[in-house]
Amino acid sequence: MWFNKRSEDIINELSSNLINGLSSSEAKSRLEKNGLNKLQGKKKKSLLQLFFSQINDVMIYILLIASIISAIVGEISDAIIILIVIFINAIIGVIQESKAEKALEALKSMSTPKALVRRDGNVIEIPSEEVVVGDIIVIDAGRYIPADLRLIETANLKIEESAFTGESVPAEKSSDIILDDKDVSIGDQHNMAFMSTLVTYGRGIGIVVNTGMNTQIGKIAKMLDAEEDNTTPLQKKLAQLGKTLGFIAVGISILMFIVSIFQGRDILEMFMTSISLAVAAIPEGLPAIVAIVLALGVQRMIKENAIIRKLPSVETLGSVNIICSDKTGTLTINKMTVKKYYINGEITDLENIDINNHETKLLVYGMILCNDATSKDGIQTGDPTEVALIDVGNKINILKEDLNKEFKRINEIPFDSDRKLMTTVNSYNDKYNVFTKGAIDSILKISNKILVNGEIKEFTNKEKDEVLKASNLMSDDALRVLALAYKTIDNEHVAIDELEEDLIFIGLMGMIDPPREEVKGSIELSKKAGIRTIMITGDHKNTAVAIAKELGIAEDISQAMSGSEIDSYSDKEFTKIINNYRVFARVSPEHKVKIVKAFKSYDNIVSMTGDGVNDAPSLKAADIGVAMGITGTDVAKGAADMVLTDDNFTTIVKAVEEGRNIFNNIKKSIIFLLSCNLGEVVALFVAILLNWPAPLLPIHILWVNLITDSFPALSLGVDPGDKGVMNLPPRSPKESLFTGRMGILLILNGILIGANTLFAFVLGEYLYPDSLKHAQTMAFVVLSVSQLFYSLSMRNETKSLFQVGILKNKWLICSVLFGILIQFAIITIPLTATIFKVYSLTLKDWGIVLLISLIPFAINEIVKIFFRLSDKRKFDK
Ligand code: ATP
Repeated sequence: MWFNKRSEDIINELSSNLINGLSSSEAKSRLEKNGLNKLQGKKKKSLLQLFFSQINDVMIYILLIASIISAIVGEISDAIIILIVIFINAIIGVIQESKAEKALEALKSMSTPKALVRRDGNVIEIPSEEVVVGDIIVIDAGRYIPADLRLIETANLKIEESAFTGESVPAEKSSDIILDDKDVSIGDQHNMAFMSTLVTYGRGIGIVVNTGMNTQIGKIAKMLDAEEDNTTPLQKKLAQLGKTLGFIAVGISILMFIVSIFQGRDILEMFMTSISLAVAAIPEGLPAIVAIVLALGVQRMIKENAIIRKLPSVETLGSVNIICSDKTGTLTINKMTVKKYYINGEITDLENIDINNHETKLLVYGMILCNDATSKDGIQTGDPTEVALIDVGNKINILKEDLNKEFKRINEIPFDSDRKLMTTVNSYNDKYNVFTKGAIDSILKISNKILVNGEIKEFTNKEKDEVLKASNLMSDDALRVLALAYKTIDNEHVAIDELEEDLIFIGLMGMIDPPREEVKGSIELSKKAGIRTIMITGDHKNTAVAIAKELGIAEDISQAMSGSEIDSYSDKEFTKIINNYRVFARVSPEHKVKIVKAFKSYDNIVSMTGDGVNDAPSLKAADIGVAMGITGTDVAKGAADMVLTDDNFTTIVKAVEEGRNIFNNIKKSIIFLLSCNLGEVVALFVAILLNWPAPLLPIHILWVNLITDSFPALSLGVDPGDKGVMNLPPRSPKESLFTGRMGILLILNGILIGANTLFAFVLGEYLYPDSLKHAQTMAFVVLSVSQLFYSLSMRNETKSLFQVGILKNKWLICSVLFGILIQFAIITIPLTATIFKVYSLTLKDWGIVLLISLIPFAINEIVKIFFRLSDKRKFDK
């Protein structure tokens, strides 16, 4: 039991050191001895299991039966070929699936929580998995507790432990020893913090006493890793489509079988043809291709600084039409510099600061003491707002270290974005000074006196107006304004809730936080793309509007609303007027939820950014919750669909663009594969109805579907993005894949490929009347090669191949060349030619076949000319 031991004894027992922490070499050896600090997850599927899961499919069963029957009737080569195709297909499936899974794993590990530990005398951030027993952990609000800890120091620390206690109100923690020999329930162990619980408030320091499966949560949870549904809406629709097609295919096959019995054909041959028809109708490769395209897309997005946490978001991203963004750090660079300050009724430039003035000195001292950041020799930690304040001192040789020693901090109330205040109590001679800094409106509410020229006066409405006027003047210059108030108390044991009242106002500091340079362009780009940008900020309305104007988000202050105005409307009224606004200032996290809901009620697809502990609800409410990777808390990251590793607005816009491209590419692959399948069905169906011999053998269709088609389909999935995607409005998530041109192209090409194959077959029969094999070979080659050529045309539904750049998609070019090459190989090499029952074509045949194969491609390019003309006409109107 750790709660009834003195913390000094625990530190000794675990051979640690409070000030310096463990040495990195000691930590390393402990990690090697005890293993990673993580809970055992579910076992992963082995390669063999993956392989068998590929084979566990109705389609494959049909093929296996076909293979067995072929073997029984003596068609050994058919049987073997079918088995080989099944095998190759399963291998491709395994490779794709494990690649997709690896990409997802990598994403997961990128967004696992980190812990602050003391090692070798420094505080560093490490992955929580590397925490070892004896580590000294620094705890702060918004982080998950990385392991079981005995608390050594606490400052208003509150931890949410509902996982253990069912109690959703955060538990207050202290480092005091619990003198009890008996077992104390977890909920009452106030000097302990447990793995996976969440710090909601305050700060603290603790020593790790248990890690991994030895922690309390490890004992409860034998298995973690709740099954997360990572299939996207599109994948679900495809699964449904696959089933429907399956039923249709089986239906058609049975029908064909019956028809051919009436036609008096060879039963065995017809049985095989029916099976090949079933194979032709079902796009076997589709699910794997969609999965891999999604996974590859997600990996590309990492390079663009966006980590997708939930796969379905990739699709939703492409439909986003409203981006709600925080201002500080996302639209601005989050490097603040104090430019002006206000005391004694006057605004002064910082260059002219006079530290001998009593009020100035108090303002600077207060701002530095009521402050958790550090800035020394150019190395900074903590909130940039606070760093800017310390830098004011650094400039005039008032150092935070010295002040901290002289005026020791004995109590504090941390900053939170609901109160918009922070307070510290510092000893001062034999008394105590309370310093509160925060947003001007919040400070005015709790101050009733003002310090002017050494005199403490009543803070009348007239004086308050004057202060507000000064603050507005600074805000209009895009300065972020922070106010400071203080009071002196005699007794350090003043109740916490009495600290922030009856304060004496001292003055203001105004700091600049310039907009990020690249953001203006991104906002313009999103406008073109039909996306509205909304600024949401805790900052003052005037400051917000000044920056919004600069960035092109808003034109004037009438488009801005403050949090208190939002409160004055009912939800219904607010929803009615929300479309008139572009800037929401002085908002707290609950307002963000209200804003998201109001926008969503108009069927908008809304993305919302957030970083704080309280932002989780609004991130969850949004269609795409976006958390900040650098400044964001673990809670925000946990609730988000996407994490920005550079905290930059531009990354959101890039991710939307990438989302649109990924969706378009998947669409191209799907339409390509489906139209090829349709073509095969058309060819077989028509031939049988006309009582012709089968133009294609089952192995031919299998070969084309599972081998030669897969590569172009995959290559279409990684097609380089089209620059034009951001000139179009967002796609409606309700829109079907097959509406509009894509549907036309699908049907058209199905018929074209089918007709083309039949044409080659008939031509073959005409040229070589005695050789059915010869005609079948020509049909086989035309089927596969015309699909390969046609894939080139699929890259864009309106632009010609020359407009999109013939060589832009190198993968596709390689796939086409490779496809033709192996097609040539299998009909030319005697062994494979025997197996595939084909005839080695002559040079003249090849010429004919290649020419015919170009027809669908050529017709597509001509159809696209008409599409472009109709677009132009629409545009001219
Ligand atoms: P955004 O929501 O765009 O990130 P923000 O950073 O201004 O904007 P908050 O961090 O919620 O939003 O801050 C709201 C207000 O609280 C600020 O405008 C400022 O007046 C005040 N404030 C910010 N940081 C501190 C702090 N460390 N101490 C005291 N007051 C602060």
